[in-house]
Amino acid sequence: MMKKVLCNIGAVPLLMVATLAAGADKPVATTVLVIHGGAGVERAGMTREEEQAARAALEAALRAGHAALAAGKPALDAVSAAIVVLEDAPQFNAGRGAVFTHDGTNELDAAIMDGKTGRAGAIAGVHRIRNPIALARAVMEKSAHVMMTGDGAEAFAKSIGMPLVDPSYFRTEKRWQQLQKALKEETDKKAHTDIETAKHFGTVGAVALDAKGDLAAGTSTGGMTNKRYGRVGDAPIIGAGTYANARCAVSGTGWGEFYIRAVAAHDICARVQYGKQNIRDAADAVINQEIPKAGGDGGAIALTSDGRFALPFNTEGMYRGWIGSDGVPHVAIYADDELAEPVK
Ligand code: ASP
Repeated sequence: MMKKVLCNIGAVPLLMVATLAAGADKPVATTVLVIHGGAGVERAGMTREEEQAARAALEAALRAGHAALAAGKPALDAVSAAIVVLEDAPQFNAGRGAVFTHDGTNELDAAIMDGKTGRAGAIAGVHRIRNPIALARAVMEKSAHVMMTGDGAEAFAKSIGMPLVDPSYFRTEKRWQQLQKALKEETDKKAHTDIETAKHFGTVGAVALDAKGDLAAGTSTGGMTNKRYGRVGDAPIIGAGTYANARCAVSGTGWGEFYIRAVAAHDICARVQYGKQNIRDAADAVINQEIPKAGGDGGAIALTSDGRFALPFNTEGMYRGWIGSDGVPHVAIYADDELAEPVK
């Protein structure tokens, strides 16, 4: 399902050339937050109200993350704050509104990575965690581990006082109908493989650059419609769907099996670091060349410590947006939507 190949690119002024705030004697550093609400958005079947609700949620997520950055908080806080808003919004395939597995359940995956310290936390296959990104962060900050799964992850959540929700919290009628459609297509043998019936990418993610020049990345998802019990996608796998170091941060969305095989998020950052590619070329090479060559599709957001970012994707649309130091949110959905460029 390769469609248009797009690569939005932006850059905010370098940290070192940050502006002076009126009356302040210290430079106000540039901050950036870039988010996605999943590739694979299709115009067909999308109502005007749904579009507006998605745009409003993207803007709310950008504002929440920006508030953290503007308050001088670390990139990790901005990433968490933005993702929590998107997890709570039923328009996206993460938290409430997550897609259904083949068996009619919701299994959630998430990861977060701190580019400054290299620490990471991830969870997979949870059913009762309202905000999976918060549990991923708790794994990073309050456990000795990087990744926890299923019942063990939920037991850990309980042990640190995180409330569990009833699994019905995640259910939305739209996602249920998407599963019914996928099941029917599978029965009708329209699809070559089980998972090929399910292109409802809607994973959410964020990458941020804070006032100190540190980066972070996070991703949260319900995975793919009609996935089998226990299937884990790329989102919680460090280096595949989520990655951050001192120079580069990436969050992916798309056909997870291909992102895992390509170690996509890490490959983008490695191309920047060792390959000396700029973020636009690096992200484009992995998302629009390597992954489609292997048979997959999707998108990503990628940000470097100089404030430059790229939002490539090769599906009909990708919910996406960015916000710079001025606090003005910019959002787009379809490939032909213009996403405002930052002032250079
Ligand atoms: N990448 C996710 C997965 O494969 C799906 C998505 O992006 O929506 O689990």
